[in-house]
Amino acid sequence: MENKRDIRALTREDIESYFTEIGEAPFRAKQVYEWLWKKGAKNFESMTNLSLPLREKLQANFVINHIRVDEMQRSNDGTIKNAVRLYDGKVVESVLIPTDNRITACISSQVGCSLDCNFCATANLKRMRNLNPDEIYDQVVAIKNEAENFYGRPLTNIVFMGMGEPLMNYKNVLEAIEKITSPDGLGMSPKRITVSTVGLAKMIRKLADEEPRFKLALSLHSARDEVRDKIMSINLKNPVEELRQALEYWYSKTKSRVTLEYVVWRGINDQKIDIDALVRFCRSVPCKVNLIEYNPIDDGIFQQADEEAVLAYVKALEAAGIVATIRKSRGKDIDAACGQLANKNELEIFN
Ligand code: SAH
Repeated sequence: MENKRDIRALTREDIESYFTEIGEAPFRAKQVYEWLWKKGAKNFESMTNLSLPLREKLQANFVINHIRVDEMQRSNDGTIKNAVRLYDGKVVESVLIPTDNRITACISSQVGCSLDCNFCATANLKRMRNLNPDEIYDQVVAIKNEAENFYGRPLTNIVFMGMGEPLMNYKNVLEAIEKITSPDGLGMSPKRITVSTVGLAKMIRKLADEEPRFKLALSLHSARDEVRDKIMSINLKNPVEELRQALEYWYSKTKSRVTLEYVVWRGINDQKIDIDALVRFCRSVPCKVNLIEYNPIDDGIFQQADEEAVLAYVKALEAAGIVATIRKSRGKDIDAACGQLANKNELEIFN
């Protein structure tokens, strides 16, 4: 069988030159682009403002590789988790998180993950491949539709906090964000998009140079190398001081405050020395801190610290003028919370 190209792998310019080549008016290219990226068309038949012969020609030459939501699980707190099947059969997960005034989509950027954070279930999956821009975009559209259909509300925020490390799939993540934010795409505000990174100093600087308008979060979890080295092996090559300098650079370029994600674990980072290190870190980088609840992944080494320890963090940070927020987990009962995305059902089927 002839291998047809996925039309969504073409840039806007590629589509324009294709239309010129086949002798079609240039505005047709714009129409097709909008069908693909604004209206999320899944097939050529639905592009009703194109002539039938043109639709047939596109159909004969291209495919639209669309994701399929294989399974949707709904938590008793309203969180929805989608198991998303990609064109090659691989599966990633994305999550819809409703709160009083927001609906947030938590999106995956890679199939599996190459990082080795000891407290994260996705780390067990290993990285299989990067997601294409259209696969990232489709996850957003699927959640946008669910928000409208199930909650009668629009999608308001997007966080790249699902499976994978977005800055290790740099180009595709940026391309997807362009499609999500551009006026002939979904037209969402970049200010409502947060890219979360494990902390890759070089990539943070590279990203800063592009002066993006979306937000950055960094999964810090400890501001002490002796601790961070042990729980996140990526720290061996991206030590805390280098991250701090990269974040300073980020702020100088973007004027956007970074969010530090931080879990407090019993016996790991719950002492005064840990708190002092974080306060010192935050004093020199404009930031705010999200203290996230730990979602156990069953090996018992990591345990959520006592409430007093978390409150001691909040108190110390606030005393230093740093905004700190305690974040409760959502979707725990369906393994949809931070660090729990691991294609569990998939593993059960195939193992
Ligand atoms: N690779 C990116 C994005 C994915 S992780 C990053 O590292 O930021 C999304 C967030 O969940 C990160 O802050 C991560 O450290 C956190 N996380 C991972 N496992 C967790 C767990 N078991 N409980 C709570 N948070 C966890």
